[in-house]
Amino acid sequence: MNSEVNQESASRFMAESGRRSISDLLHPLHQNGGINSQILSQGGIELFRFSFRGPNSSDPIRIAIFAAIHGDEPAGALAAVQFLLELATEPSLAENYLIHAYPVCNPTGFEDNTRCSRRGIDLNREFWKGSSEPEVQLIERELDTQHFLGLIQLHADDTSEGLYGFVRGATLTEHLLRPALLEAEKILPRNLNPSIDGFAARDAIIYDHYEGVLAAPARMDPVPFEIILETPQLAPVESQVEALVIAMRTVLAEYRRFISFAQNL
Ligand SMILES: [Zn+2]
Repeated sequence: MNSEVNQESASRFMAESGRRSISDLLHPLHQNGGINSQILSQGGIELFRFSFRGPNSSDPIRIAIFAAIHGDEPAGALAAVQFLLELATEPSLAENYLIHAYPVCNPTGFEDNTRCSRRGIDLNREFWKGSSEPEVQLIERELDTQHFLGLIQLHADDTSEGLYGFVRGATLTEHLLRPALLEAEKILPRNLNPSIDGFAARDAIIYDHYEGVLAAPARMDPVPFEIILETPQLAPVESQVEALVIAMRTVLAEYRRFISFAQNL
C-alpha cells in the first residue's frame, strides 16, 4: 500500500485555509455543458445536485448517486465527479437513464475531513426519524420527490481491506451488486470475510444495515434498488475511485439489461 500517494490524493483540494475545497472538486462539472447543476439550500447548508440525461430517456430510469455523507471519505466524492464526466464523454453509458448525483452530501464534514458534520452529527444515522439537520432534510426531500428507481451510495471503510457492499430494497439488488463487485475486483480485492463491520456477510455482500442510514422512503412503489458500496479506505484513493466508477458503470448496464428483459416478458 502506497500511503504517500494516498496522502497526496487525500490532500488534493485542500485550500489554504486547511479546509478541503468543494468548489475545486466540483469545478470540472460546472465547466461541462452536458451536466446540469442545481444548488439545494437550507439552514446555511448548500448541497449540489448534478444531473445527466442519457440518450433514449424520454421516460427515464431515475437513479441517484450519493457520496461523502461521511466527510472523511473523499474517494466517493471524487468517484461521483469522475463518473459524471465519463457519462458526459460517453453518453451511451447512461442510455435510458436520468442520473442525479450528490457528490458531497456532508459539505462541512468534507471541508473539515471529518466523518460527522461540523455540528458533530453522523448524518448517516439521522434518516427518516424527523431529523432537524438541514443536510438530512434536503436529501429526504429529494428522496421523497424524485421517484428514484435506484440509489447508489459511496462509502469507504478504514477497517476493511477489500471492497464490499450493502443491499436493501428491491430483491434484484444483489444481482446488481454482485457483478459490480466482480468487475471492481479487477482494481481492488473484495472483502470475503464472513463478518464485516459487525454484520454477517456473504461474498462481500451484507443484507443488513444500520438504523437511520440514507435510504428510500418506506412504501415506495415500485421498490427501488439500494446499493451501498464500500471501498477499503486505506487503499490508494485513485484505486478506490476507479473501483467505484467501474462498479457504478456495471450497475447501470446490469439494471438496463434487467429492465429490458422485464419489458420483453
Ligand atoms: Zn461512510
